[in-house]
Amino acid sequence: MSDLNDFSKTTPKLETVDAESIPAGVEPGSGSSKLKFKESTSRKKNIPKGLWTKCGKCADLLFDKDLDENLKTCPSCGFHFPISARLRLDSLVNEKTFKELDVGMTSVDVLEFTGVESYSSKLEKYKGKTGEADAVITGLCKMGQHKVALGIMDFSFLGGSMGSVVGEKLTRLIEIGTKNKIPVIIISTSGGARMYEGMFSLMQMAKTCGALAYHSEAKLPYISVLTHPTTAGVMASYASVGDLIIAEPGAMIGFAGPRVIKDTTQAELPPGFQTAEFLMDRGMIDAIVPRNKMRDSLINYLDYMSADEPQPKVKRAVKKKVS
Ligand SMILES: [Zn+2]
Repeated sequence: MSDLNDFSKTTPKLETVDAESIPAGVEPGSGSSKLKFKESTSRKKNIPKGLWTKCGKCADLLFDKDLDENLKTCPSCGFHFPISARLRLDSLVNEKTFKELDVGMTSVDVLEFTGVESYSSKLEKYKGKTGEADAVITGLCKMGQHKVALGIMDFSFLGGSMGSVVGEKLTRLIEIGTKNKIPVIIISTSGGARMYEGMFSLMQMAKTCGALAYHSEAKLPYISVLTHPTTAGVMASYASVGDLIIAEPGAMIGFAGPRVIKDTTQAELPPGFQTAEFLMDRGMIDAIVPRNKMRDSLINYLDYMSADEPQPKVKRAVKKKVS
């Protein structure tokens, strides 16, 4: 993206950027829609808003309607744009089978945290902006023949940060999955733990993983889907402990951002560091699945992993003694 070079020369004004909602190392154009530069060129002004979107990878101008129909992926180069949790939900589950859990569960500003803006007012702002009560939606649904406990995170709500609500909703979802003996699928996108909640957000890492341990003990499958970006406290907890870990193409996946690692280690990072493809080559994830094939692939994986149907007993060949 040419804006990267222009940035240092022209120092355009940054517009409504919440630093805490962007994981360190997320570059403009790499999938995050948070960084926006005020354009002063007249060419830009001639393009009507809300009709066209420029692809962050191949720079093609895409008709918004086509982009929506293509599940927010570029028809030319396959670049995956951010997608809301609701749109993603519609693309995954059998129609009219989703029963949402814990609707409206909302965070409390226990620390009375105030930075440039108070946590309470931030919450209100993002509730209005996204129409969601927090950064994850959870529920029970059917995918193909399978009953599934499904959680989908939304990056547009405070950078998909994991606070007490995200942790609690996911934990309840996993526990319901264990109780009903059904698989759990969590689709993650997050900048990490929610700093406004301090220790309360960090505790969610242990809580969600504890619930997943019981789910695993019951020999039930858990599929973790990593989408751009999945980082920090979320990657260091429930997102990385799936029986099967799959990712969307080009997703940034890691703990600390590349800039932090580079500054700390003073070492050059290999090309493609912290991308889904890089981790796939090194055996950290099991598969990379494009968004338009995600539903079919998940159903296939569930067919393999699910214990819904009793497995046919394998008869052992008994050698008859020849007398
Ligand atoms: Zn493209």
